[in-house]
Order: sequence, then C-alpha cells, then structure tokens
Amino acid sequence: MPFRRWSSKHRKTFGITREEEEKKHGKNYRVPPKPDSYYTNIKGCCRWCGDMIIREDETVNYRRSWHPKCLEEYLFIYHQPETRKHIWIRDGGKCAYCDKAATKGKWQLDHIKPLVEQKDVPWHKRDFSYWMPDNLQILCNGCHKKKTSKEATERARKRRGEKVEVNKRVRDKYIC
Ligand SMILES: [Zn+2]
Ligand SMILES: [Zn+2]
Repeated sequence: MPFRRWSSKHRKTFGITREEEEKKHGKNYRVPPKPDSYYTNIKGCCRWCGDMIIREDETVNYRRSWHPKCLEEYLFIYHQPETRKHIWIRDGGKCAYCDKAATKGKWQLDHIKPLVEQKDVPWHKRDFSYWMPDNLQILCNGCHKKKTSKEATERARKRRGEKVEVNKRVRDKYIC
C-alpha cells in the first residue's frame, strides 16, 4: 500500500487504547499483538519501537510517528495482502511441502508454528515471532489441509493423553 494512502487511514488509530483493542481482539488468536509504544500519543516517537525519530542533523522529527523500517515491519505483520505478497516473492510461489508451483489465489499463507498455540495467551502478551517471516510459508490448498488435520490430530491425542494421566493420578489417590 502506498505510504500516503496508508498513513491517512492509519492516523485514525491515534488515541485508541489497549483496553479497547484487547476487548476487540482478545478472543481471536489470529490477531497479532501490538507493542506498548503503539498507544503513545507523543509526536516524534516511533509507535513501533518506541525510540525517538531523529533527523540527519540529529534533531527530533516531531512530524513523524514511525521509522520507515518500523513502518515496513508493521505493515508486514498487520496487512495480510502485504504479507502474502512478500512471502510469495520470497519463496518464488512454490509450496513448501510438495515443491509444486502454487496457483495464485489457491494457496494458504501458513504459520509453521501454528497460531492456535497462542490461543490461551492474552492478546498483548502474544509472541510476535509467530507473525514474522521466519514462521511463514506458502502451502498449496491440498498440503495445507493435510498439515492442519495432522496438527489437530496431534493436539487431540495430547489432550487425551493428559486426561488419561489425570485419571490415573485420581485413581492412585483414591483406590488404595
Ligand atoms: Zn521505530
Ligand atoms: Zn503442496
């Protein structure tokens, strides 16, 4: 998205509070967190890394609220079309599992460590690394389906395993 278009759209988020966002996103584990500095209203202070924005002559630039690099990272994480475009180019449009060329529009941006692992973490404490490029890959629809189903099976197995464990402990406690 061109910077100008994005920045005018984004100005509206100035003044939004963490509590409001927590309420909105708390239950959706697919939404990435935001750093504390995002909520500061100080001009000249980067909303992503929290450092001051310094010009070449070493004075503070009070007209900006993002470092260009930080803005790029933010865009990457929060704007799904940007993320998809970036990973598509990086991986040459190939599925990471079957190595076949993926069809545009028929592929999934897959999180290698699945986002569901962040499900019980409060929104603002979620781990950023889950949304970073290193954790992302292209999967064709078929391979994505297989991976998701395998992960769900593993989770269910783990849950059942835990249950059996607990039952055994309870039994040991009462039957003796
Ligand atoms: Zn910054
Ligand atoms: Zn594939």
